[in-house]
Amino acid sequence: TPSKEGKMFIKALFDYDPNEDKAIPCKEAGLSFKKGDILQIMSQDDATWWQATHEGDANPRAGLIPSRHFQERRLALRRPEILVQPLKVSNRKSSGFRRSFRLSRKDKKTNKSMYECKKSDQYDTADVPTYEEVTPYRRQTNEKYRLVVLVGPVGVGLNELKRKLLISDTQHYGVTVPHTTRARRSQESDGVEYIFISKHLFETDVQNNKFIEYGEYKNNYYGTSIDSVRSVLAKNKVCLLDVQPHTVKHLRTLEFKPYVIFIKPPSIERLRETRKNAKIISSRDDQGAAKPFTEDDFQEMIKSAQIMESQYGHLFDKIIVNDDLTVAFNELKTTFDKLETETHWVPVSWLH
Ligand code: 5GP
Repeated sequence: TPSKEGKMFIKALFDYDPNEDKAIPCKEAGLSFKKGDILQIMSQDDATWWQATHEGDANPRAGLIPSRHFQERRLALRRPEILVQPLKVSNRKSSGFRRSFRLSRKDKKTNKSMYECKKSDQYDTADVPTYEEVTPYRRQTNEKYRLVVLVGPVGVGLNELKRKLLISDTQHYGVTVPHTTRARRSQESDGVEYIFISKHLFETDVQNNKFIEYGEYKNNYYGTSIDSVRSVLAKNKVCLLDVQPHTVKHLRTLEFKPYVIFIKPPSIERLRETRKNAKIISSRDDQGAAKPFTEDDFQEMIKSAQIMESQYGHLFDKIIVNDDLTVAFNELKTTFDKLETETHWVPVSWLH
């Protein structure tokens, strides 16, 4: 259904090159696009081939693109290759919190990696990503900031980037305060490092879906609540959140309108060069032991990034390669600046 102005826009969730499409009746008539591009639909009269233009194109030429139905059907046929095979990740102690923490009890027993335990999520995303109908979102005047979700594999430098952003403008950026059931340490205060709550309350909150993510570590629960995101936004700050990509779908609502940035590792050669003397910090806020990167860490990082990208790539609004930290940080900064001025496209499904 076209929007009010009679225009219909879609966000492409896959890359398309008509030259490589054996099915297209005429390659010259095709419109190529990249994942994330916003397209305007000009005609849906044909069940197999829609006509579309690139949104904002000064001299738009309508071209053929596969219809949703057609693309879904052929993608589904190819699904066995698309479906990522579970990744074998070593379970060394040093591989740290982020991974082991998020294992469900069952997976701990079988000693499998988080990717394996996320099997059910793979089927969740099995509704093959093709297009998402979007609409330009007109921000309310008092609504300036939003949630920015950073995702990326362990060791890619996500925490460093987040910290650099935070200290670059503490008035502008905020982070959530996690909940924990462990006892407060003497130098800590409630609501600063953590919100300290009882195990009973934590479990009730879990039941009531109050957490975006949570896990268990040394017999205590830790988690990030949805309300903690709300309280950062209520302070009129951009809320920076780093979570596992599978949690992103729960945040994709009109209330949060998350902008999702994937921090991607460079090539393994560049990892070896640039991280030679660096240390991997496995926990999300530096409390874990830092150890020098091993070759295994690099390989895991690359594999894990590939899995994230193939499973959740359609949810990423922006991909930033963290080769050189300063360059990546500047790119991140530019992205944030643009966020405040550029048209913000939201799925129409958020408006209902
Ligand atoms: P500590 O008890 O030493 O403060 O933290 C123990 C571990 O809990 C750390 O590795 C820390 O990164 C982790 N942690 C802190 N907050 C959260 C959270 O909101 N969610 C998850 N999953 N882990 C957290």
